[in-house]
Amino acid sequence: MQTLGNFINGNNVESLSGRVGAVYDPATGEQTKQVCLSSAQETAQAITAAHDALAEWSAVTPLNRSRVMFKFKALLEKNKDELAMLITSEHGKVFSDAQGELTRGIEVVEFACGIPHLLKGEQSMNVGRGVDSFSLMQPVGVCAGIAPFNFPAMVPLWMFPVALACGNTFVMKPSEKDPSVPLKLAELLKEAGLPDGVFNVVNGDKESVDVLLSDPRVQAVSFVGSTPIAEYVYKTGSENGKRVQALGGAKNHMVVMPDADLDLVSGSLMGAAYGSAGERCMAISVAVCVGDEAADALIEKLETEIANMRVGAGHGEGEEPHMGPLISRQHADKVLSYIETGINEGARLVSDGRNFTVTGNEQGYFVGPTLFDNVKPGMRVYQEEIFGPVLSIVRVNTFEEALELVNEHEYGNGTSIFTANGEAAHMYTHQVQVGMVGVNVPIPVPMAFHSFGGWKRSIFGPLNMHGPDGVRFYTKMKTVTARWPKGQQNINHYTMPTMK
Ligand code: NAD
Repeated sequence: MQTLGNFINGNNVESLSGRVGAVYDPATGEQTKQVCLSSAQETAQAITAAHDALAEWSAVTPLNRSRVMFKFKALLEKNKDELAMLITSEHGKVFSDAQGELTRGIEVVEFACGIPHLLKGEQSMNVGRGVDSFSLMQPVGVCAGIAPFNFPAMVPLWMFPVALACGNTFVMKPSEKDPSVPLKLAELLKEAGLPDGVFNVVNGDKESVDVLLSDPRVQAVSFVGSTPIAEYVYKTGSENGKRVQALGGAKNHMVVMPDADLDLVSGSLMGAAYGSAGERCMAISVAVCVGDEAADALIEKLETEIANMRVGAGHGEGEEPHMGPLISRQHADKVLSYIETGINEGARLVSDGRNFTVTGNEQGYFVGPTLFDNVKPGMRVYQEEIFGPVLSIVRVNTFEEALELVNEHEYGNGTSIFTANGEAAHMYTHQVQVGMVGVNVPIPVPMAFHSFGGWKRSIFGPLNMHGPDGVRFYTKMKTVTARWPKGQQNINHYTMPTMK
Protein backbone atom coordinates (compact mmCIF):
# COMPACT_ATOMS: atom_id res chain seq x y z
CA MET A 1 0.00 0.00 0.00
CA GLN A 2 1.22 3.51 -0.87
CA THR A 3 2.54 5.46 2.12
CA LEU A 4 2.46 9.22 1.80
CA GLY A 5 5.44 10.96 3.37
CA ASN A 6 6.53 14.57 3.64
CA PHE A 7 7.81 17.19 1.20
CA ILE A 8 10.84 18.88 2.71
CA ASN A 9 13.44 21.07 1.05
CA GLY A 10 12.16 20.33 -2.44
CA ASN A 11 11.98 16.54 -2.09
CA ASN A 12 9.47 13.87 -1.23
CA VAL A 13 10.82 12.39 1.97
CA GLU A 14 9.85 9.18 3.69
CA SER A 15 8.98 9.47 7.37
CA LEU A 16 10.71 7.26 9.89
CA SER A 17 8.31 8.03 12.75
CA GLY A 18 6.79 4.55 12.63
CA ARG A 19 3.31 6.03 13.02
CA VAL A 20 0.77 6.12 10.18
CA GLY A 21 -2.85 7.10 9.60
CA ALA A 22 -5.24 5.38 7.20
CA VAL A 23 -6.60 7.19 4.14
CA TYR A 24 -9.91 5.85 2.84
CA ASP A 25 -12.03 6.16 -0.25
CA PRO A 26 -15.21 7.27 1.55
CA ALA A 27 -17.45 6.07 -1.29
CA THR A 28 -16.27 2.47 -1.00
CA GLY A 29 -15.09 2.38 2.60
CA GLU A 30 -11.79 0.86 1.46
CA GLN A 31 -8.44 1.97 2.76
CA THR A 32 -6.49 3.13 -0.29
CA LYS A 33 -3.32 4.64 1.21
CA GLN A 34 -1.64 5.38 4.45
CA VAL A 35 -0.06 8.64 5.52
CA CYS A 36 2.85 9.16 7.84
CA LEU A 37 2.24 10.84 11.16
CA SER A 38 5.50 12.72 11.49
CA SER A 39 7.55 12.91 14.63
CA ALA A 40 8.36 16.19 16.37
CA GLN A 41 11.88 15.91 15.03
CA GLU A 42 10.68 15.53 11.42
CA THR A 43 8.41 18.53 11.83
CA ALA A 44 11.37 20.52 13.12
CA GLN A 45 13.33 19.46 10.02
CA ALA A 46 10.68 21.05 7.81
CA ILE A 47 10.88 24.24 9.89
CA THR A 48 14.66 24.20 9.47
CA ALA A 49 14.28 23.92 5.68
CA ALA A 50 11.86 26.87 5.68
CA HIS A 51 14.11 28.85 8.00
CA ASP A 52 17.20 28.24 5.85
CA ALA A 53 15.37 29.28 2.67
CA LEU A 54 13.98 32.50 4.17
CA ALA A 55 16.79 34.99 3.62
CA GLU A 56 17.09 34.27 -0.08
CA TRP A 57 13.37 34.02 -0.86
CA SER A 58 12.47 37.19 1.03
CA ALA A 59 15.11 39.04 -1.03
CA VAL A 60 13.56 37.94 -4.35
CA THR A 61 11.71 40.90 -5.83
CA PRO A 62 7.92 40.88 -5.49
CA LEU A 63 7.69 40.90 -9.29
CA ASN A 64 9.69 37.68 -9.53
CA ARG A 65 7.73 36.08 -6.70
CA SER A 66 4.58 36.96 -8.59
CA ARG A 67 5.98 35.32 -11.73
CA VAL A 68 6.29 32.04 -9.81
CA MET A 69 2.64 32.43 -8.84
CA PHE A 70 1.65 32.98 -12.48
CA LYS A 71 3.38 29.72 -13.45
CA PHE A 72 1.84 27.93 -10.48
CA LYS A 73 -1.63 29.08 -11.57
CA ALA A 74 -1.04 27.73 -15.09
CA LEU A 75 0.10 24.39 -13.65
CA LEU A 76 -2.92 24.18 -11.36
CA GLU A 77 -5.16 24.67 -14.36
CA LYS A 78 -3.26 22.09 -16.40
CA ASN A 79 -3.55 19.54 -13.57
CA LYS A 80 -7.03 20.49 -12.44
CA ASP A 81 -8.76 17.23 -13.32
CA GLU A 82 -6.09 15.10 -11.68
CA LEU A 83 -6.26 17.22 -8.53
CA ALA A 84 -10.07 17.14 -8.52
CA MET A 85 -10.03 13.35 -8.83
CA LEU A 86 -7.63 13.12 -5.89
CA ILE A 87 -10.02 15.25 -3.82
CA THR A 88 -13.00 13.10 -4.79
CA SER A 89 -11.21 9.85 -4.07
CA GLU A 90 -10.05 10.91 -0.57
CA HIS A 91 -12.71 13.39 0.54
CA GLY A 92 -15.74 11.96 -1.27
CA LYS A 93 -17.24 15.16 -2.68
CA VAL A 94 -18.48 14.82 -6.26
CA PHE A 95 -16.07 15.61 -9.10
CA SER A 96 -17.65 18.89 -10.26
CA ASP A 97 -17.70 20.12 -6.64
CA ALA A 98 -14.01 19.22 -6.32
CA GLN A 99 -13.35 21.22 -9.51
CA GLY A 100 -15.27 24.14 -7.99
CA GLU A 101 -13.14 23.94 -4.83
CA LEU A 102 -10.02 24.13 -6.99
CA THR A 103 -11.33 27.11 -8.92
CA ARG A 104 -11.90 28.99 -5.66
CA GLY A 105 -8.37 28.11 -4.59
CA ILE A 106 -6.85 29.17 -7.92
CA GLU A 107 -8.53 32.54 -7.46
CA VAL A 108 -6.34 33.14 -4.40
CA VAL A 109 -3.26 32.36 -6.51
CA GLU A 110 -4.53 34.94 -9.04
CA PHE A 111 -4.83 37.44 -6.19
CA ALA A 112 -1.28 36.64 -5.08
CA CYS A 113 -0.05 37.29 -8.65
CA GLY A 114 -0.78 40.97 -7.95
CA ILE A 115 1.63 41.10 -5.01
CA PRO A 116 3.86 43.94 -6.32
CA HIS A 117 0.81 46.18 -6.22
CA LEU A 118 -0.36 44.83 -2.85
CA LEU A 119 2.99 45.50 -1.17
CA LYS A 120 3.27 49.14 -2.20
CA GLY A 121 2.52 50.30 1.31
CA GLU A 122 1.68 53.85 2.34
CA GLN A 123 3.47 57.12 1.77
CA SER A 124 3.05 60.66 3.08
CA MET A 125 5.21 63.44 1.74
CA ASN A 126 6.24 66.41 3.84
CA VAL A 127 4.81 65.22 7.17
CA GLY A 128 7.10 67.89 8.65
CA ARG A 129 9.32 70.40 6.92
CA GLY A 130 11.59 68.27 4.72
CA VAL A 131 10.38 65.06 6.34
CA ASP A 132 8.72 62.17 4.45
CA SER A 133 7.08 59.09 5.89
CA PHE A 134 6.54 55.75 4.22
CA SER A 135 5.84 52.15 5.15
CA LEU A 136 7.57 48.92 4.23
CA MET A 137 5.53 45.71 4.25
CA GLN A 138 8.08 43.07 5.10
CA PRO A 139 7.67 39.29 5.38
CA VAL A 140 7.04 37.93 8.89
CA GLY A 141 9.34 34.92 8.37
CA VAL A 142 8.54 31.22 8.59
CA CYS A 143 4.77 30.67 8.52
CA ALA A 144 2.77 27.50 9.20
CA GLY A 145 -0.62 26.40 7.92
CA ILE A 146 -2.85 23.73 9.48
CA ALA A 147 -5.82 22.59 7.40
CA PRO A 148 -9.10 20.69 7.91
CA PHE A 149 -10.28 17.72 5.86
CA ASN A 150 -13.21 19.37 4.13
CA PHE A 151 -11.31 21.50 1.59
CA PRO A 152 -7.99 19.72 1.05
CA ALA A 153 -7.06 22.07 -1.82
CA MET A 154 -8.91 25.32 -1.23
CA VAL A 155 -8.03 25.92 2.41
CA PRO A 156 -4.27 25.42 1.94
CA LEU A 157 -4.61 27.68 -1.11
CA TRP A 158 -6.26 30.34 1.10
CA MET A 159 -3.00 30.45 3.03
CA PHE A 160 0.31 29.76 1.32
CA PRO A 161 0.02 31.64 -2.03
CA VAL A 162 -0.38 34.93 -0.16
CA ALA A 163 2.28 34.02 2.40
CA LEU A 164 4.83 33.03 -0.26
CA ALA A 165 4.09 36.02 -2.48
CA CYS A 166 4.71 38.28 0.54
CA GLY A 167 8.21 36.76 0.82
CA ASN A 168 7.66 34.25 3.63
CA THR A 169 8.54 30.58 3.67
CA PHE A 170 5.98 27.99 4.71
CA VAL A 171 5.32 24.67 6.42
CA MET A 172 1.93 23.16 5.60
CA LYS A 173 0.29 20.54 7.83
CA PRO A 174 -2.65 19.07 5.84
CA SER A 175 -5.50 17.06 7.29
CA GLU A 176 -4.37 13.48 7.82
CA LYS A 177 -7.68 12.33 6.31
CA ASP A 178 -7.02 13.59 2.76
CA PRO A 179 -3.34 14.53 2.47
CA SER A 180 -2.53 13.82 -1.21
CA VAL A 181 -3.47 17.17 -2.73
CA PRO A 182 -1.12 19.39 -0.66
CA LEU A 183 1.78 17.07 -1.57
CA LYS A 184 0.88 17.46 -5.24
CA LEU A 185 0.65 21.25 -4.78
CA ALA A 186 4.21 21.21 -3.39
CA GLU A 187 5.43 19.40 -6.52
CA LEU A 188 3.65 21.90 -8.76
CA LEU A 189 5.20 24.82 -6.87
CA LYS A 190 8.62 23.32 -7.45
CA GLU A 191 7.81 22.90 -11.15
CA ALA A 192 6.74 26.56 -11.19
CA GLY A 193 10.23 27.53 -10.09
CA LEU A 194 9.83 27.94 -6.33
CA PRO A 195 13.24 27.40 -4.71
CA ASP A 196 13.67 24.34 -2.49
CA GLY A 197 12.77 24.81 1.16
CA VAL A 198 10.39 27.72 0.57
CA PHE A 199 7.32 25.47 0.76
CA ASN A 200 7.29 22.26 2.80
CA VAL A 201 4.57 19.78 3.68
CA VAL A 202 4.57 17.85 6.94
CA ASN A 203 1.94 15.18 7.37
CA GLY A 204 0.94 14.44 10.90
CA ASP A 205 -1.35 15.05 13.83
CA LYS A 206 -1.23 16.85 17.18
CA GLU A 207 2.44 15.97 17.62
CA SER A 208 3.35 17.99 14.50
CA VAL A 209 0.89 20.79 15.27
CA ASP A 210 2.38 21.27 18.72
CA VAL A 211 5.85 21.70 17.23
CA LEU A 212 4.54 24.31 14.79
CA LEU A 213 2.93 26.14 17.72
CA SER A 214 6.00 26.11 19.93
CA ASP A 215 9.09 26.32 17.70
CA PRO A 216 10.39 29.89 18.05
CA ARG A 217 11.37 30.00 14.37
CA VAL A 218 7.70 29.93 13.32
CA GLN A 219 6.37 33.48 13.34
CA ALA A 220 2.79 33.09 12.12
CA VAL A 221 0.23 30.28 12.18
CA SER A 222 -2.89 30.02 10.01
CA PHE A 223 -5.40 27.43 11.14
CA VAL A 224 -8.77 26.26 9.83
CA GLY A 225 -10.73 23.51 11.56
CA SER A 226 -13.14 22.88 14.42
CA THR A 227 -13.70 25.47 17.14
CA PRO A 228 -12.12 23.60 20.10
CA ILE A 229 -8.89 23.05 18.14
CA ALA A 230 -8.98 26.58 16.69
CA GLU A 231 -9.17 27.97 20.22
CA TYR A 232 -6.33 25.70 21.37
CA VAL A 233 -4.17 26.72 18.41
CA TYR A 234 -4.90 30.41 18.97
CA LYS A 235 -4.14 30.29 22.69
CA THR A 236 -1.02 28.15 22.41
CA GLY A 237 0.40 29.99 19.41
CA SER A 238 -0.29 33.38 21.01
CA GLU A 239 1.26 32.32 24.31
CA ASN A 240 4.36 31.42 22.34
CA GLY A 241 4.49 34.89 20.79
CA LYS A 242 3.22 34.06 17.30
CA ARG A 243 0.59 35.86 15.32
CA VAL A 244 -2.32 33.47 14.79
CA GLN A 245 -5.46 33.43 12.67
CA ALA A 246 -7.62 30.44 13.64
CA LEU A 247 -10.92 29.84 11.89
CA GLY A 248 -13.36 27.49 13.59
CA GLY A 249 -16.73 25.81 13.19
CA ALA A 250 -20.10 27.15 12.16
CA LYS A 251 -23.86 26.86 12.28
CA ASN A 252 -25.11 28.96 9.41
CA HIS A 253 -28.69 30.23 9.27
CA MET A 254 -30.75 31.22 6.27
CA VAL A 255 -33.63 33.56 7.14
CA VAL A 256 -36.60 33.00 4.85
CA MET A 257 -38.94 35.99 4.83
CA PRO A 258 -42.64 35.53 3.92
CA ASP A 259 -42.13 37.47 0.68
CA ALA A 260 -39.18 35.34 -0.52
CA ASP A 261 -39.35 33.50 -3.83
CA LEU A 262 -39.73 29.98 -2.44
CA ASP A 263 -38.59 28.24 -5.61
CA LEU A 264 -35.34 30.18 -5.39
CA VAL A 265 -35.14 29.44 -1.65
CA SER A 266 -35.67 25.69 -1.97
CA GLY A 267 -33.20 25.35 -4.87
CA SER A 268 -30.62 27.41 -3.01
CA LEU A 269 -31.14 25.53 0.24
CA MET A 270 -30.71 22.13 -1.37
CA GLY A 271 -27.23 23.03 -2.61
CA ALA A 272 -26.29 24.95 0.54
CA ALA A 273 -27.45 22.25 2.97
CA TYR A 274 -26.64 19.03 1.13
CA GLY A 275 -23.84 19.98 -1.29
CA SER A 276 -20.58 18.27 -0.26
CA ALA A 277 -22.79 16.24 2.14
CA GLY A 278 -23.08 19.31 4.38
CA GLU A 279 -19.34 19.20 5.13
CA ARG A 280 -18.75 22.87 4.36
CA CYS A 281 -18.06 25.53 6.96
CA MET A 282 -20.42 27.75 4.96
CA ALA A 283 -23.16 25.10 4.59
CA ILE A 284 -26.60 26.26 5.63
CA SER A 285 -27.73 23.95 8.41
CA VAL A 286 -30.66 26.01 9.75
CA ALA A 287 -33.48 27.62 7.79
CA VAL A 288 -35.34 30.17 9.91
CA CYS A 289 -38.79 30.58 8.40
CA VAL A 290 -40.71 33.72 9.29
CA GLY A 291 -44.37 32.59 9.50
CA ASP A 292 -45.90 29.13 9.27
CA GLU A 293 -47.18 29.70 5.75
CA ALA A 294 -43.62 30.12 4.37
CA ALA A 295 -42.40 27.16 6.45
CA ASP A 296 -45.14 24.77 5.29
CA ALA A 297 -44.78 25.73 1.63
CA LEU A 298 -40.98 25.48 1.78
CA ILE A 299 -41.00 22.05 3.43
CA GLU A 300 -43.32 20.75 0.71
CA LYS A 301 -40.89 21.93 -1.97
CA LEU A 302 -37.86 20.55 -0.12
CA GLU A 303 -39.50 17.13 0.26
CA THR A 304 -39.99 16.95 -3.50
CA GLU A 305 -36.40 18.05 -4.17
CA ILE A 306 -35.00 15.57 -1.62
CA ALA A 307 -36.95 12.74 -3.26
CA ASN A 308 -35.24 13.61 -6.55
CA MET A 309 -31.72 13.83 -5.15
CA ARG A 310 -29.03 11.56 -6.50
CA VAL A 311 -26.63 10.32 -3.83
CA GLY A 312 -23.63 8.19 -4.72
CA ALA A 313 -19.93 7.90 -5.40
CA GLY A 314 -18.46 11.12 -6.77
CA HIS A 315 -16.22 9.21 -9.14
CA GLY A 316 -18.78 6.67 -10.35
CA GLU A 317 -19.97 6.00 -13.89
CA GLY A 318 -23.02 7.70 -15.40
CA GLU A 319 -24.84 10.81 -14.30
CA GLU A 320 -23.00 12.61 -11.50
CA PRO A 321 -24.70 12.43 -8.10
CA HIS A 322 -25.66 15.62 -6.26
CA MET A 323 -24.05 14.45 -3.06
CA GLY A 324 -21.36 11.97 -2.06
CA PRO A 325 -20.45 10.23 1.20
CA LEU A 326 -19.13 11.64 4.47
CA ILE A 327 -15.42 11.62 5.20
CA SER A 328 -15.24 8.59 7.52
CA ARG A 329 -17.24 5.83 9.19
CA GLN A 330 -16.72 7.56 12.53
CA HIS A 331 -18.05 10.89 11.24
CA ALA A 332 -21.03 9.23 9.52
CA ASP A 333 -21.88 7.52 12.84
CA LYS A 334 -21.66 10.86 14.64
CA VAL A 335 -24.07 12.44 12.14
CA LEU A 336 -26.45 9.46 12.52
CA SER A 337 -26.36 9.86 16.29
CA TYR A 338 -27.34 13.54 15.90
CA ILE A 339 -30.39 12.41 13.92
CA GLU A 340 -31.36 10.15 16.87
CA THR A 341 -30.76 13.07 19.22
CA GLY A 342 -33.02 15.35 17.19
CA ILE A 343 -35.82 12.76 17.29
CA ASN A 344 -35.40 12.30 21.06
CA GLU A 345 -35.40 16.07 21.57
CA GLY A 346 -38.81 16.28 19.89
CA ALA A 347 -37.98 17.71 16.46
CA ARG A 348 -40.19 16.41 13.63
CA LEU A 349 -38.22 14.21 11.23
CA VAL A 350 -39.52 15.05 7.75
CA SER A 351 -36.87 13.24 5.74
CA ASP A 352 -34.85 10.44 7.32
CA GLY A 353 -31.27 9.88 6.12
CA ARG A 354 -30.63 6.86 8.35
CA ASN A 355 -30.30 3.32 6.95
CA PHE A 356 -29.24 4.80 3.65
CA THR A 357 -27.22 2.66 1.27
CA VAL A 358 -25.99 3.19 -2.25
CA THR A 359 -26.26 0.12 -4.44
CA GLY A 360 -22.80 -1.11 -5.38
CA ASN A 361 -21.23 0.99 -2.61
CA GLU A 362 -22.79 -0.57 0.44
CA GLN A 363 -19.67 -0.02 2.57
CA GLY A 364 -19.46 3.70 1.70
CA TYR A 365 -19.99 6.33 4.41
CA PHE A 366 -23.32 7.58 3.11
CA VAL A 367 -26.00 9.36 5.11
CA GLY A 368 -29.12 10.39 3.22
CA PRO A 369 -30.44 13.96 3.08
CA THR A 370 -32.19 14.62 6.39
CA LEU A 371 -34.74 17.31 7.17
CA PHE A 372 -36.06 18.29 10.59
CA ASP A 373 -38.99 20.61 11.21
CA ASN A 374 -39.95 22.32 14.50
CA VAL A 375 -36.39 22.50 15.74
CA LYS A 376 -36.12 24.66 18.88
CA PRO A 377 -33.16 26.78 20.03
CA GLY A 378 -32.65 24.69 23.19
CA MET A 379 -32.02 21.48 21.23
CA ARG A 380 -28.51 20.11 20.68
CA VAL A 381 -29.26 19.62 16.97
CA TYR A 382 -29.78 23.39 16.83
CA GLN A 383 -26.86 24.44 18.98
CA GLU A 384 -24.09 22.13 17.75
CA GLU A 385 -22.34 21.86 14.42
CA ILE A 386 -23.38 18.53 12.88
CA PHE A 387 -21.30 18.86 9.69
CA GLY A 388 -23.45 16.47 7.69
CA PRO A 389 -26.49 16.48 5.38
CA VAL A 390 -28.94 17.51 8.11
CA LEU A 391 -31.08 20.62 7.64
CA SER A 392 -33.17 22.02 10.51
CA ILE A 393 -36.21 24.25 10.08
CA VAL A 394 -36.85 26.70 12.92
CA ARG A 395 -40.16 28.56 12.85
CA VAL A 396 -40.45 32.14 14.10
CA ASN A 397 -43.16 34.78 13.81
CA THR A 398 -41.23 37.94 13.02
CA PHE A 399 -38.08 39.27 11.39
CA GLU A 400 -36.91 40.55 14.80
CA GLU A 401 -37.20 37.05 16.30
CA ALA A 402 -35.18 35.63 13.40
CA LEU A 403 -32.45 38.24 13.82
CA GLU A 404 -32.25 37.68 17.58
CA LEU A 405 -32.00 33.92 17.10
CA VAL A 406 -29.07 34.24 14.68
CA ASN A 407 -27.35 36.79 16.88
CA GLU A 408 -27.63 34.64 19.98
CA HIS A 409 -25.94 31.63 18.40
CA GLU A 410 -22.37 31.02 19.53
CA TYR A 411 -21.14 30.74 15.93
CA GLY A 412 -21.12 33.58 13.42
CA ASN A 413 -19.48 32.32 10.25
CA GLY A 414 -21.98 32.83 7.42
CA THR A 415 -25.67 33.60 7.02
CA SER A 416 -28.14 34.65 4.36
CA ILE A 417 -31.53 36.25 4.05
CA PHE A 418 -33.96 35.52 1.25
CA THR A 419 -36.47 38.30 0.72
CA ALA A 420 -37.96 40.68 -1.83
CA ASN A 421 -37.87 43.48 0.75
CA GLY A 422 -34.86 45.78 0.49
CA GLU A 423 -35.45 47.26 3.92
CA ALA A 424 -35.41 43.84 5.63
CA ALA A 425 -32.24 42.91 3.72
CA HIS A 426 -30.61 46.20 4.70
CA MET A 427 -31.51 45.80 8.39
CA TYR A 428 -30.31 42.21 8.38
CA THR A 429 -26.96 42.92 6.76
CA HIS A 430 -26.30 45.79 9.16
CA GLN A 431 -27.49 44.21 12.40
CA VAL A 432 -26.58 40.55 12.12
CA GLN A 433 -23.58 39.44 14.21
CA VAL A 434 -22.08 37.25 11.51
CA GLY A 435 -18.97 37.76 9.39
CA MET A 436 -20.22 36.81 5.92
CA VAL A 437 -23.74 37.67 4.80
CA GLY A 438 -25.69 36.79 1.67
CA VAL A 439 -28.77 38.56 0.33
CA ASN A 440 -30.65 36.08 -1.84
CA VAL A 441 -27.27 34.30 -2.08
CA PRO A 442 -27.10 31.07 -0.06
CA ILE A 443 -23.33 30.63 0.44
CA PRO A 444 -21.74 34.08 0.57
CA VAL A 445 -18.08 33.04 0.34
CA PRO A 446 -16.12 36.24 -0.36
CA MET A 447 -13.98 36.38 -3.49
CA ALA A 448 -10.19 36.02 -3.16
CA PHE A 449 -9.63 39.80 -3.33
CA HIS A 450 -11.87 40.23 -0.28
CA SER A 451 -11.14 38.43 2.98
CA PHE A 452 -12.82 35.30 4.40
CA GLY A 453 -13.72 34.98 8.06
CA GLY A 454 -16.57 34.73 10.51
CA TRP A 455 -17.35 36.35 13.86
CA LYS A 456 -17.84 35.08 17.42
CA ARG A 457 -16.56 31.55 18.06
CA SER A 458 -16.07 30.94 14.34
CA ILE A 459 -12.74 32.78 14.46
CA PHE A 460 -9.94 33.55 16.88
CA GLY A 461 -7.66 36.43 15.95
CA PRO A 462 -8.38 39.75 14.25
CA LEU A 463 -7.33 39.03 10.65
CA ASN A 464 -9.25 36.94 8.12
CA MET A 465 -7.92 34.73 5.33
CA HIS A 466 -6.68 35.98 1.93
CA GLY A 467 -7.56 39.35 0.37
CA PRO A 468 -6.28 42.50 2.13
CA ASP A 469 -6.32 40.82 5.57
CA GLY A 470 -4.19 37.97 4.23
CA VAL A 471 -1.55 40.42 3.08
CA ARG A 472 -1.66 42.19 6.48
CA PHE A 473 -1.36 38.87 8.30
CA TYR A 474 1.69 37.73 6.35
CA THR A 475 3.56 41.04 6.51
CA LYS A 476 4.98 43.24 9.22
CA MET A 477 4.58 46.91 8.62
CA LYS A 478 7.55 49.12 9.26
CA THR A 479 7.09 52.87 9.07
CA VAL A 480 10.03 55.04 8.14
CA THR A 481 10.23 58.75 8.91
CA ALA A 482 13.10 60.30 6.96
CA ARG A 483 14.76 63.62 6.33
CA TRP A 484 17.88 64.55 4.44
CA PRO A 485 19.04 67.75 6.17
CA LYS A 486 21.36 70.18 4.52
CA GLY A 487 24.06 71.31 6.89
CA GLN A 488 24.03 71.17 10.69
CA GLN A 489 20.68 71.52 12.45
CA ASN A 490 19.86 71.91 16.10
CA ILE A 491 18.37 68.60 17.25
CA ASN A 492 18.52 69.10 21.02
CA HIS A 493 14.80 68.51 21.65
CA TYR A 494 13.92 67.18 25.09
CA THR A 495 10.17 67.27 24.56
CA MET A 496 8.11 64.86 22.50
CA PRO A 497 8.98 65.57 18.84
CA THR A 498 6.14 67.18 16.94
CA MET A 499 6.18 68.17 13.30
CA LYS A 500 6.32 71.86 12.53
P1 NAD B 1 -10.23 19.41 13.10
O1 NAD B 1 -10.27 20.55 14.04
O2 NAD B 1 -10.49 18.05 13.62
O3 NAD B 1 -8.80 19.32 12.39
C1 NAD B 1 -8.21 20.44 11.77
C2 NAD B 1 -6.69 20.28 11.82
O4 NAD B 1 -6.27 20.27 13.19
C3 NAD B 1 -6.18 19.00 11.19
O5 NAD B 1 -5.03 19.29 10.44
C4 NAD B 1 -5.86 18.11 12.38
O6 NAD B 1 -4.79 17.25 12.14
C5 NAD B 1 -5.50 19.11 13.46
N1 NAD B 1 -5.86 18.64 14.81
C6 NAD B 1 -6.90 17.84 15.14
N2 NAD B 1 -6.91 17.62 16.47
C7 NAD B 1 -5.88 18.31 17.00
C8 NAD B 1 -5.40 18.51 18.32
N3 NAD B 1 -5.98 17.94 19.37
N4 NAD B 1 -4.32 19.28 18.50
C9 NAD B 1 -3.71 19.87 17.45
N5 NAD B 1 -4.14 19.72 16.17
C10 NAD B 1 -5.21 18.96 15.93
O7 NAD B 1 -11.25 19.76 11.90
P2 NAD B 1 -11.74 18.83 10.71
O8 NAD B 1 -12.67 17.80 11.23
O9 NAD B 1 -10.60 18.40 9.88
O10 NAD B 1 -12.54 19.91 9.83
C11 NAD B 1 -13.90 20.22 10.04
C12 NAD B 1 -14.07 21.47 10.85
O11 NAD B 1 -13.42 22.56 10.22
C13 NAD B 1 -15.51 21.91 11.00
O12 NAD B 1 -15.74 22.33 12.32
C14 NAD B 1 -15.63 23.08 10.03
O13 NAD B 1 -16.66 24.02 10.34
C15 NAD B 1 -14.29 23.68 10.16
N6 NAD B 1 -13.98 24.53 9.02
C16 NAD B 1 -14.03 25.88 9.21
C17 NAD B 1 -13.79 26.72 8.15
C18 NAD B 1 -13.84 28.21 8.33
O14 NAD B 1 -13.45 28.90 7.42
N7 NAD B 1 -14.29 28.72 9.45
C19 NAD B 1 -13.47 26.19 6.89
C20 NAD B 1 -13.40 24.81 6.75
C21 NAD B 1 -13.66 23.98 7.83
